[in-house]
Amino acid sequence: MHLRLYNTLSRNIEEFKLPKSKAVNLYTCGPTVYENAHIGNLRSYIFADVLRRTLEYDGYKVNWVMNITDIDDKTIKRTVDEYGKKATPQELRKYTDKYFADFKKDMEAVNVPTDSKHIKFIRVSDELEEIKKFIKDLIKLGYAYKTDDGVYFSIEKYQKKFGDYGALVGKDFLKGKKIGARVKVDEYEKENLSDFALWKGRDESDGNIFWEDEEFGEGLPATQELALQAGRPGWHIECSVINKIAFRGEPTDIHTGGVDLLFPHHTNEIAQSQPLYKPFVNHWSHCEHLLVNGRKMAKSEGNFYTLKDLEKEISDAGIVFRYLVLQTNYRTQMNFTLDSLKAAEAGLEHLSDARFNWNNPGDVVNTEEYFLKALNDDLNTAEALAILGGLVGFKNAGARVDKMADALGIKFFNAEITPEVRKLKEEYEECRRNKQFVQSDALRKKIKGLGYTVRDTETGSIIRRARK
Ligand code: AMP
Ligand code: ZN
Repeated sequence: MHLRLYNTLSRNIEEFKLPKSKAVNLYTCGPTVYENAHIGNLRSYIFADVLRRTLEYDGYKVNWVMNITDIDDKTIKRTVDEYGKKATPQELRKYTDKYFADFKKDMEAVNVPTDSKHIKFIRVSDELEEIKKFIKDLIKLGYAYKTDDGVYFSIEKYQKKFGDYGALVGKDFLKGKKIGARVKVDEYEKENLSDFALWKGRDESDGNIFWEDEEFGEGLPATQELALQAGRPGWHIECSVINKIAFRGEPTDIHTGGVDLLFPHHTNEIAQSQPLYKPFVNHWSHCEHLLVNGRKMAKSEGNFYTLKDLEKEISDAGIVFRYLVLQTNYRTQMNFTLDSLKAAEAGLEHLSDARFNWNNPGDVVNTEEYFLKALNDDLNTAEALAILGGLVGFKNAGARVDKMADALGIKFFNAEITPEVRKLKEEYEECRRNKQFVQSDALRKKIKGLGYTVRDTETGSIIRRARK
């Protein structure tokens, strides 16, 4: 079966046609490690992980790579705030180490594995030499130019050759816009169409966080020479370079991120990379936003929850959040509330009860085909969950259900009911059917003594091991 996946660039659902013999180059824009991730960020990584799992379920080997943005306006500012005006690159590294470690913990909590078998993280601060080389190549080819405060990418030059700047946003993106201004900051609005910084000459506010390269000063008037010899990369160039490093210059098969990255980040990634190799990316895939009260969850809005916030409300918050997220298609905005989180917790408890109690009579035939179809239909996780839900209470479906849960990255709560307790449960139900209530009460006590609760329902009793 082949995955059909929406391509942001073509605005169509396309069949993913890579031969199964070839590993999939999957790239995800990773976190900016200046603070803890919020659960909106985690939604975009859960989506990428479901994509990775689906490809693997379909029989592909996946090379999944994620950058870690430890050099950008925000990480530098925070490091200088913390260490003072003399802050160094080593201190930047130390400052961001903590958030990178926390990020991995959050990822594990939402069941996105972070070991090297599943994903490779590449830190920007480890790749300065490659970044500088990439920028120099763009200068040589005429797509980048030096000024007295940085090296900038020329949209005009790019546009003359390729004619598709901004195509990810829409084909008429450039209509009515004036090209020419320059922007040094990493983040800016669509209206401010500007040549953007690849290399930012050292600024006093950066403390001592800079890297040196004499070549960047060459050819400039003597008064300006020094201005560029010390500096640091812009945000967008980092991802272009890390894609190239990750897949050794082969095209990236699928590139993911949240929709806020369409412009300027991914638009600029394409522009920087195409002069060196084309296609840069075969398939662009974006996750819609998680909202709070109808607005994008964002650090700048101050309306965000972290996983730690959710853990104060419920236990197993990461896995419950994942279960909640999968109920909505990744291309649909999703409004987050604590009530919806609690409803998801109840839903997952119910599913877990069904998984281990086998209270559905009879056997079921294979529904794996429908499950696979749903996942391969542009990652229809809501439908895949519904199919899993229809199968989960049958004794003969256990192994299949576990495989499906794994494809979605869902974990059931309750540990398996031990054979001893299962036998007691059967005896208990038998006694109740025969109205031998003294015996059934004794059995109930015995089951409780082994750490389980017992609940009687119309379709049988439910035994549950208490969650920690
Ligand atoms: P950042 O750490 O800000 O670079 O963001 C990391 C990832 O989270 C990017 O792919 C963003 O597009 C994504 N993202 C940011 N905010 C949200 C949100 N509210 N909902 C979903 N994804 C988001
Ligand atoms: Zn990126």
